[in-house]
Amino acid sequence: MPFLVHLEKVKPKVADKIVRDSFNTRGASWGKTVGSTQARRNRQPRWTVQAGDGFYPAHHQTYAGCLSVAAELAVQAYEMVGAPACPEEVARWLPKRPVPNSGMCPICKLPLEFAEFDLAVQSKAAIDTDHLNPTLERRHVSGNVAFVHHLCNTTKGDRSLVEFEEWMAGTLQRHGYQVTKAR
Ligand SMILES: [Zn+2]
Repeated sequence: MPFLVHLEKVKPKVADKIVRDSFNTRGASWGKTVGSTQARRNRQPRWTVQAGDGFYPAHHQTYAGCLSVAAELAVQAYEMVGAPACPEEVARWLPKRPVPNSGMCPICKLPLEFAEFDLAVQSKAAIDTDHLNPTLERRHVSGNVAFVHHLCNTTKGDRSLVEFEEWMAGTLQRHGYQVTKAR
């Protein structure tokens, strides 16, 4: 992938994560129970999830679709605070030119720091790849896949961003805060 050659050189761990999270299903985190045994799948290429499969169509994506998700994640990685500068020969393969130090976690709206890829909390990375709206029938699509803080991802859970915001607003109000959404 031409848009990953630079990251593969300077930060192979991040390039690997982009490939893994764009092209493969998740598996372990699904933890479905079938016949009282934990049915956990290994990660598999998303285009092999076909109609009739319990994970279709939510986790299905074509190879080309996965490629566009990977390119978007590459933009997000280059936009993180402290990320290496995106070389010109890489930028031309990306859907947009990364704006340095502009990367925000879409959940908490705080900056995402590139160095957080290296932090691990209880063997979990500090940065996760999230489906912002996991309730979509097809969730692994451009615009719905983003890097987020692990803590934010865990807190949001299976809710969409809108559901999560409403829950937070309600929670704050129940704790005596006045919450109004700026227009
Ligand atoms: Zn966050």
